[in-house]
Amino acid sequence: MIRIKEKIEKVLKNIIEADSIKKIDVINNNMVTIYLSLYPPTMHLKKKLTIDIKNYLIEKKIFSNEDNISIKIEMEAKKNKKYEIKNIIAIASGKGGVGKSTIATNIAVSLVKMGFKVGLLDADIYGPSIPLMFNIENDSIENRVVRKNGVILITPIISYEVKILSIGFFSKYGQAIVWRGPMVTKALRQLIHETDWGELDFLIVDLPPGTGDIHLSLLQETTLKGIVIVSTSQKIALSDVNRTIGMFRIKSIYVPILGIIENMSFLIMKNSKEKSYFFGKNGVKNFANEINIPYLGEIPMLQKIREHSDMGIPVVLENEYIRNIFIGITKNIIKKLL
Ligand code: ADP
Repeated sequence: MIRIKEKIEKVLKNIIEADSIKKIDVINNNMVTIYLSLYPPTMHLKKKLTIDIKNYLIEKKIFSNEDNISIKIEMEAKKNKKYEIKNIIAIASGKGGVGKSTIATNIAVSLVKMGFKVGLLDADIYGPSIPLMFNIENDSIENRVVRKNGVILITPIISYEVKILSIGFFSKYGQAIVWRGPMVTKALRQLIHETDWGELDFLIVDLPPGTGDIHLSLLQETTLKGIVIVSTSQKIALSDVNRTIGMFRIKSIYVPILGIIENMSFLIMKNSKEKSYFFGKNGVKNFANEINIPYLGEIPMLQKIREHSDMGIPVVLENEYIRNIFIGITKNIIKKLL
């Protein structure tokens, strides 16, 4: 009896590590009931998980007949009743280095300036740069965690009136961290559900470039209002964006694409008003038309933007021209939510 339970635990290790399995009951060595909890409560996920687990236990030859396996899934309506987040919006890109984190930062601060309560979750496991952009890189997760009667609660850091947490806080500054799928899910789950976000109008999530475990975990853990894509007009960047959009359009995980922002659109040449379209002109706009997603606006390539990122001061706070561009784009995003 114990042996078969151990075998099941071994093959379902990933889901157990992600804290989804609540209990495994084995009866007479040939019947098993697995109790799972699932959030968000979507029927298609419930069906898929049931079929996947049954097939997997048969494939691994632990059972030969699916009638011996019973899966009981409890749908969790809300993981954490301490907070209420009205809109979760993720910022994604096809490639790294196109300005996704810079834009997530300045959209978050623009929303604050517009009077909203805002959180920013840096989920970019490959290069968590939000702490640098908000000048809070010396913080770590240990400083943010309070354990009370066995319950963990994380408090976000508040910088420029934005409540911030970063997956980068799980590692020390400059230290590499190797994530496996279930670890990513667990960390993300803590950052979303075990965090005292309070009341938020918006939670902006800065995703890693491309597609991967974080994207899928986020879709499992939350109900996203939509995705905002950032790209340059360069052909290579756009072909990667196409793949990212493809993932969000897969039927089983469909999330609305709120639109695409063109970053580093042009350079203004020194001593003249002439614009140089370094990555190509209107590439993102044409792409948006072709694949039928809203175009949200363009941001020029400016030394001030780079400098402020490096200084850890959101540029929208310091420069009116750039602030107006970001406010315009942020308003366009909000319009898509209505
Ligand atoms: P990603 O999150 O896509 O990897 P980042 O936001 O980290 O990209 O930006 C990469 C670099 O480019 C940073 O140094 C940032 O300051 C700079 N950058 C981003 N957007 C602009 C812009 N519009 N003008 C000038 N520099 C920019």
